[in-house]
Amino acid sequence: MVSQRACLDFAIAETRGMAGPVFELGLGNGRTYHHMLQYINKRPVYVFERAVASHPESTPPEDRVILGDVRETLPAALERFGDTASLIHADLGGHNREKNDAFARFISPLVEPLLATGGMMVSSDRMYFDGLTELPLPPGAVPGRCFVYRR
Ligand code: SAM
Repeated sequence: MVSQRACLDFAIAETRGMAGPVFELGLGNGRTYHHMLQYINKRPVYVFERAVASHPESTPPEDRVILGDVRETLPAALERFGDTASLIHADLGGHNREKNDAFARFISPLVEPLLATGGMMVSSDRMYFDGLTELPLPPGAVPGRCFVYRR
């Protein structure tokens, strides 16, 4: 969580001047969603999750939840939002590194076109993008725990 927060805080600050929506992929108990909301107040935050089971205080309003499997909801989001996202955070994985890596490979091309120019992606897993630049980690982040990319 220390690395995740360091990367998120860095990306939130770097994209502060952008107006496009923020996407949280994987709500879990809502820890990172809750953290992001504290620092993002001028941009709508949408949560992609297959089954909402978060702490009540960290549960997004219904109209900000995009319910379903991201393999289906990310392509639908491209039709709805186009390439407007200012920040995307993904924490979708479990404990199996190989499965996480295969999943990251699968969703990378679904995530990439959603980002606006200058938009950033923070992920708990290495992503496989064609056109995004991987950035050096901010102070406080441990290599391998999170990854930061910019379009
Ligand atoms: N970042 C969250 C936090 O700090 O509380 C934890 C997220 S948790 C590790 C991963 C979440 O991703 C789970 O809630 C799971 O349901 C969701 N998830 C995993 N695979 C998914 C998929 N294919 N589509 C939608 N949601 C998925």
